[in-house]
Amino acid sequence: MVKIGLYICHCGRNIADVVDVKNLIEYFKDKVNVVRDHLFMCSEPAWEMIRSDVASKLVDRVVIAACSPQNHEKFFRSALETAGLSKYLLEIANIREQCSWVHGKNKEEATEKAKRLIKAAISKVKTLKPLEDLKFEVERSVLVIGGGIAGMTASLDLAKMGFKVYLVEKEPSIGGKLIKFDKIFPLNDCASCVVSSLMAEVANNPMIELITYAEVEEVNGSFGNFNVKVRKKQTYVDWEKCIGCGACTTVCPPKAWKPNEFDEGLSKRAAMYIVSPQAVPKKAVHDPELCVNCGKKKLGTRRFLRGGKEYLTPCEKACPTKAIDRSKSWNPKGEILNFNVGAIIVATGYKVMEKETFKEYASHSPNVITALQFERILSPTGPTSGKILRISDGKKPKAISFISCVGSRDVRYHTYCSKVCCLYLLKQARLVKEREPDIDVYIHVIDVRAPGKDLEEYYIEARRMGIGIIRGKVGGIEELPNGRLRILGFDADLGMPIEVEVDLVVLATAIELPEDSRELARKIGLTVDPSGFLKEDHPKLRPVESTLTGIFLAGCCQGPKDVSETVAQAKAAAASVASLLNKEEIQVEPFIAKVNEEACTACGICENVCPFNAIKVKEVAIVDERSCKGCGICASCPAKAIDIQGYSAESITAEIEALVG
Ligand code: SF4
Ligand code: SF4
Repeated sequence: MVKIGLYICHCGRNIADVVDVKNLIEYFKDKVNVVRDHLFMCSEPAWEMIRSDVASKLVDRVVIAACSPQNHEKFFRSALETAGLSKYLLEIANIREQCSWVHGKNKEEATEKAKRLIKAAISKVKTLKPLEDLKFEVERSVLVIGGGIAGMTASLDLAKMGFKVYLVEKEPSIGGKLIKFDKIFPLNDCASCVVSSLMAEVANNPMIELITYAEVEEVNGSFGNFNVKVRKKQTYVDWEKCIGCGACTTVCPPKAWKPNEFDEGLSKRAAMYIVSPQAVPKKAVHDPELCVNCGKKKLGTRRFLRGGKEYLTPCEKACPTKAIDRSKSWNPKGEILNFNVGAIIVATGYKVMEKETFKEYASHSPNVITALQFERILSPTGPTSGKILRISDGKKPKAISFISCVGSRDVRYHTYCSKVCCLYLLKQARLVKEREPDIDVYIHVIDVRAPGKDLEEYYIEARRMGIGIIRGKVGGIEELPNGRLRILGFDADLGMPIEVEVDLVVLATAIELPEDSRELARKIGLTVDPSGFLKEDHPKLRPVESTLTGIFLAGCCQGPKDVSETVAQAKAAAASVASLLNKEEIQVEPFIAKVNEEACTACGICENVCPFNAIKVKEVAIVDERSCKGCGICASCPAKAIDIQGYSAESITAEIEALVG
């Protein structure tokens, strides 16, 4: 006969203000062996109370009625473990998120629901069997996805701690968005100086294998030993021979040029290109979609001129090291790389919304640009070499307006605040005033958000410099016949509509998760939260852990953040990885598929349905413990020969019957 202890948490007033805890105690006192309550069940005295009940053998199964198991399940398990009981003989009834927080207006019904949730947990805990953690050897290497400031920081920290790092970047060069910037707030220090040295360090660290122009295709296995498949895209240039001289990047005919992504479309690049002057690795890439096949020499073909001399395209001719060979039959699919790692850090960064979404802001005008485009105008490596000029006519603007919250804090697009726009607009406006004091500068804001060290002072200084901060949402922008732009706004301080005429408008469009990061999340099983960013396991307690064990998050893929926060998060992710991989073996929860060999008919259905290739059927089905993620799909076995440990059919049926009974 099992002995059940029920521990009900008040969660301060979070639960007890809605759910009648006394009523629960009264109701369950005859149904379990011990029932106790506590103001905070997650406190040390409560933990000791549970441990002591288990140690003194008053109970051998534990039900905690408290908050979501996401918060403190491990903490409660440790009470059982230290008392000598299997830590998996525990069940949590979530009477906070699933009850008091959502039924605050109806206390009686909330209490009834809490009873059902607890009854279900009691029914389930009775069916649980003692389980042990699975133990695996650890692969002392890490995959970092994304070569921006977050990915580079995490990679370097891990490499310095002695871990082999595979840094995979989808672009031909690392550096991320930050290498496009001129300065970083609040010190206005040089972005290139910060990022370039990191890029060089990454490239020269022998513990880091840099795999650029590559994408993660598949991740199998689990924490401690993930098998990773990466596709290195085809560059059509022999990078062993390419010396990055750039000779090939200027010879394509005009038809083979397009807006340059690195300059956010403000300049052009050729079919043969190097990402930027500071690219790491500094290697040329051929864009076959843009290439016009000069002299009708398609990739993979040779052409001979009259007289037998071989025809070479301009790019082939220009290359001093013969790194370009269009006669070679390059595989357009590139190359597949396979390797094993113990942990993964996802640091895939962000994108900003396209200005075209905002027709009301005259986005068709070339003089309405995004803030990221303006970063390129400010940058000495940008299309104007850092001079403040309009790209449309090369003239210096007399007045510039910066508009914040374009797509952020807007129910039509994103209700979240993109967090850094106020500050980078202040930075951009200050740089304009420093370089060209006679340009009139306005920033239109709903309000200025500048919390944090030195940031309010940064804002005050902007005002001192004569930058006009206008509080009020901009309703629209009109393009005037003379090409100027009229901002139709509202000044909340004056309490009246206003119109401002300027020559250039800069939109701080909302920060979003890039589409390919969403695709990556789908491939490897990460969760995307309602705001559209990758979801952390717990916002306060595990902010760098993803919802999957062994996969960590760093930087803006988890939500908008500035450079210092990004670096802090990357360092935290690296430290968390190191603390887990710095062991001979790792322990993993045992919630995986278990085959009853006697019942198995070797029909093969489980092998076919398993999305993780974790089952092979020979005489009977065999589960690869490392690959099984415990998803439960194979439990659809027609012979009922497979159960998920800790979530058996018996346990789940007992739980459901108690809920609906
Ligand atoms: S063949 Fe070479 S030079 Fe001609 S468009 Fe293509 S990449 Fe440029
Ligand atoms: S010309 Fe040759 S060596 Fe120079 S960047 Fe192009 S491919 Fe590389």
